[in-house]
Amino acid sequence: MPAFQTVRGMRDLLGKDAQIFSNTLAKAQETAFLFGFKEVFTPHVEHLDLLSAKTGDEIRQRMFIFEDLGKRQVALRPEFTASIARLVTSALKNEPKPLKLFSTGTVYRYDEPQKGRYREFWQSNFELIGSDKPEADTEIILLTNKFLQTLGLQNYVFKIGHIGVIKGILSHDGVDEKTQNAILQRMDKKEYDLALKLIDSEKCRTTLQSLINIKSKDWHDTVKQLSVLVAEYEKAKVAVENLAEVITLITSSAEISLNVEPAFARGLEYYTGIIFEVYIPQLEIAIGGGGRYDRLIEAFGGEATAAVGCAHGIDRVVIALQTQNTEYLTNVKLGVMVIPVAESLKVDALKIAQMLRDCGVSVEFELMGRKMGKALEDADKRGLEYAIIVGERELKEGCVVVKDLKKREQTTLLITELVEKLR
Ligand code: AMP
Repeated sequence: MPAFQTVRGMRDLLGKDAQIFSNTLAKAQETAFLFGFKEVFTPHVEHLDLLSAKTGDEIRQRMFIFEDLGKRQVALRPEFTASIARLVTSALKNEPKPLKLFSTGTVYRYDEPQKGRYREFWQSNFELIGSDKPEADTEIILLTNKFLQTLGLQNYVFKIGHIGVIKGILSHDGVDEKTQNAILQRMDKKEYDLALKLIDSEKCRTTLQSLINIKSKDWHDTVKQLSVLVAEYEKAKVAVENLAEVITLITSSAEISLNVEPAFARGLEYYTGIIFEVYIPQLEIAIGGGGRYDRLIEAFGGEATAAVGCAHGIDRVVIALQTQNTEYLTNVKLGVMVIPVAESLKVDALKIAQMLRDCGVSVEFELMGRKMGKALEDADKRGLEYAIIVGERELKEGCVVVKDLKKREQTTLLITELVEKLR
């Protein structure tokens, strides 16, 4: 029988990769703690109706959908926000606002696999429910910045836009919601000509074309040009003011590299306000993104509730870290191997291993009954730093032999001094 392989687009994470992943997820958790987000765990499988309600065609067409044995139409989650909205309209309905919820886990999309694009991938997800204030949008961007900063990542840039500006123009000129979504999907893919073709009104087309043409490195200048463009569009005008307020708050409270792009749109249908993406110019892939979705909770049967959130693509964050070869990755933890010289010393050796573990040292125990030479060779191959050799003569004097596997030196140490030395 041929050897089994993973399903296309799905990966095993092994060795150092697995370690980097779990370290990165731990940093996301640390960020959640620093910003007061509470962790929640939701199922990987949800009702298809819930997942497809507001997500947008882009993702809807790429879901893993199946019927379970009870004939329910279900799907693997393609993102977290729908599950969080479900919680907010049910179990967490009466919780005081703002509600700040954090999750990590895998999500599933039938994307075309390539580097940085998988069908099963990891996200860390943050949702801030119940505030329509620009401070809330700011916190989401600041926490994304903090997360990437604590990982030691460099040269990442925030791209910011506002769906309310585009939607404000389109609805003012009578474009219905379905067409608006189709236009935004095209704009998300930078297919601007196709997007413009969907608009009947010439005035609206001209305004949107002018919006697409606005390109300036200085955000003050971009906002000024936008304000002039939408002077007659009441809702879009309010959106531009909101965009300016959020950017002012962000840039005044942190050192962040930020580009404002008025024609920036995102594939998810539920956005209503600020939207953003973080990317690394050399890599040309987004490592995270998010935005404001003030009408989603209502669409799911809850009370009208403002909300803003983001998701970070952990697989891509890890790729970015690996390309930048950050110190954080090479910071491998100390590990030791405890080897008893003879059968009769197993118990003493196990006790020493336990003592070291109690002090937080990562300890492996020689489990294959190998002779000393082979055991040391194995410890070296495993990348461990020290071998603790437990021999009868040394033990009688309360000592063990400590062999530095990198320097190939060895000393005899009192067991009581061992922890201090390994620290
Ligand atoms: P989204 O949920 O579409 O806003 O995506 C949030 C983040 O998830 C993106 O910025 C990417 O970093 C990551 N992401 C999206 N699709 C994939 C994929 N197919 N494979 C790996 N990461 C992805």
